[in-house]
Amino acid sequence: MKSDLLSASRNGVVLCDGAMGTQLMARGLTPGECGMRWNAERAGDVEAVHASYASAGCRLITTNSFGGTRSMLARHGAADHVAEWNRLAASLARRTVGSDGWVLGDVGPFGDFLEPLGDMTEGELEAIFREQIEALVAGGADAILVETMSDPAEAVVGVRAAKAVSPLPVVVTYAFQKSGGIFRTMMGTSAADAVGAALEAGADIVGANCGTDLSLDDYIELAGALVGAAGDAPVVVQPNAGAPKTGADGIYYDATGDEMAATAIRLRDAGVRIIGGCCGTSPALLAAMGKALG
Ligand SMILES: [Zn+2]
Repeated sequence: MKSDLLSASRNGVVLCDGAMGTQLMARGLTPGECGMRWNAERAGDVEAVHASYASAGCRLITTNSFGGTRSMLARHGAADHVAEWNRLAASLARRTVGSDGWVLGDVGPFGDFLEPLGDMTEGELEAIFREQIEALVAGGADAILVETMSDPAEAVVGVRAAKAVSPLPVVVTYAFQKSGGIFRTMMGTSAADAVGAALEAGADIVGANCGTDLSLDDYIELAGALVGAAGDAPVVVQPNAGAPKTGADGIYYDATGDEMAATAIRLRDAGVRIIGGCCGTSPALLAAMGKALG
């Protein structure tokens, strides 16, 4: 029987998967289109992306449910599909995860600010997160991932919602930027404070995904700050494929397999226990990382 995710990440390094959005775009998703709709209408394509990450050696497969809250789906006129599309998201990932892997139920930002900057109260947001997480759990998630967080208060509500809905482990990752040599979220929170808030709320695994203008070297430095702040909790880092570059078609990422492989080793040596990828990463890059990690 497979070990649980917490034990596995305490006892070794676990490879998580990489970007979903760009993989769906490669299969025809257009910019601005709702990627979650594909869980219902292009399920074979979503499942194929999961399968390609699983064949690359990724043991943690992340559901195609970023933006799957009622508040985000409403932007696509699809607020009525929260339960259906999140349940499908988890079941599609479930089909490709083997006996030694886990389905990570993905929850992203709700898309606005909490009070007092915005109109959303913590109670309203908790209900929104609960609705999504209940469906991810019903579809077969093994853990809940509250990701790309900027506001620790939002992350805390996400953890609270997940813990209220199920006993599954909860992973929280923030997106950081670096200014004046210090890593902070867009809301200005330091890595230590962001991680501390998530852990205090009951998060089991903490770390970073994505980020603004971070180089691969920056992610290593950030990893050190996160590991230092996380205490006994396993740390996860999902870097982008290098710093973003701007081309004729917009932003792109061009780190090579060798660069990502070297980054994976350096993240492991910095004490990171779950290593994956964010923007610009692909099954090929994750395979290079997994090969390096052995
Ligand atoms: Zn990203």
